Amino acid sequence: MGRRYRQITAIMLAVCLSAATVGCQATGLLERFRLAPSKPAPPTQPPEPPKPKGKAHVSIAVVGDIIMHMPQIEAARLPGGGYDFKDVFREVKPIIEKADIAMCNFETTISTPQRGYTGYPCFKSPEAILEALKDTGFDVATTANNHPFDSGEFGVTNTCDKLDQYGFLHTGTARTPEERDKVLMVSKNGINLAIVAYTYGTNGMEGAIKQDRRPYMINLWLDMEVVKRDIARARKAGADVVIACVHWGPEYVRKPDEVQKKTAAQFLEAGADIIFGSHPHVLQPMERTTVSRTGKDQDAFVIYSLGNFISNQRNETTRYTDSGVILNLEVIKNLDSGEISVGHISYVPTWVDRYTSGGKFRYRILPVGRFIDQTTGYQKQRLQAVWKETTGLMGEKFEAIR
Ligand SMILES: [Zn+2]
Repeated sequence: MGRRYRQITAIMLAVCLSAATVGCQATGLLERFRLAPSKPAPPTQPPEPPKPKGKAHVSIAVVGDIIMHMPQIEAARLPGGGYDFKDVFREVKPIIEKADIAMCNFETTISTPQRGYTGYPCFKSPEAILEALKDTGFDVATTANNHPFDSGEFGVTNTCDKLDQYGFLHTGTARTPEERDKVLMVSKNGINLAIVAYTYGTNGMEGAIKQDRRPYMINLWLDMEVVKRDIARARKAGADVVIACVHWGPEYVRKPDEVQKKTAAQFLEAGADIIFGSHPHVLQPMERTTVSRTGKDQDAFVIYSLGNFISNQRNETTRYTDSGVILNLEVIKNLDSGEISVGHISYVPTWVDRYTSGGKFRYRILPVGRFIDQTTGYQKQRLQAVWKETTGLMGEKFEAIR
């Protein structure tokens, strides 16, 4: 007997006892309660149609190259031993943290104190950089670029191990064939986003990797059949959206070349919806576009290069290597039709401030617009110039955030 039934019976009994002298009108009630009606009562209203489910949104923040030159490592070295890179990201942390998913192109390898740390041309960095990126709010690191073989097979496996240890989702390089074929799916707010990552090559460092391990240790986009197969696997695993991070393009050139344009079209055709480009070390434009894989136009988006997010590159090749963006992109899913669209797109221009303190260089990434009024002299001048350079390149179709 249920608790509620017991309570009702008790109430009925109390009513009967108190009404003993005038007959028990409640008895009928009690009987009716006990005997289920032989026929269910007809519904008073027709069943309601299913309510519209509305739309789900997910916000993505993505930045370009995380490059670790030796002066940056020296800047982060602590007097008592060890390294701390958190100050580098302090001013951009609130922007990165706000996004549902934050992504970066991790273009170095993680080394150990015994193996040592080096900058260009073979990047080997302290694991403290991962601690700082995690603290900043990054969730996903892609590793398909031209530097993961910089410290041989150890670099590939140790970097993946450490990315795991610090809680990153990552793709682009792998320790085993099984890991290479596993779909990186990020599910947020009811939207499944698959992330794939590929590079054009690895700077001639392939020789550091046993030949039979190269096909799974790095993802290359040179074979689009492999890309197609990967994207098909992601769709089968339930991806609503496929994001392709592509390492490509001529270095230090602020517009995409014909190969990038052709490759972007091939990626969209292969099933990618969104392309985040990296490698040129300078920004290249972005565009909303459409793709009609099923005979119907669908939203798509390409940014050809996100620029450098952090590096020691200044004026060696071109003045633009000190700048990047935090790109904010919203993905919307219509929960009734399943249709995906690219929502609001905005960007925060960023600049790497390299200054001297305690006899060595220090680095911090500044959101350009916010710091123009908080700086003087060279810093202010360069920030003003970077604002113009970056917003000029990105055009008026996209909102630049101060
Ligand atoms: Zn690169």
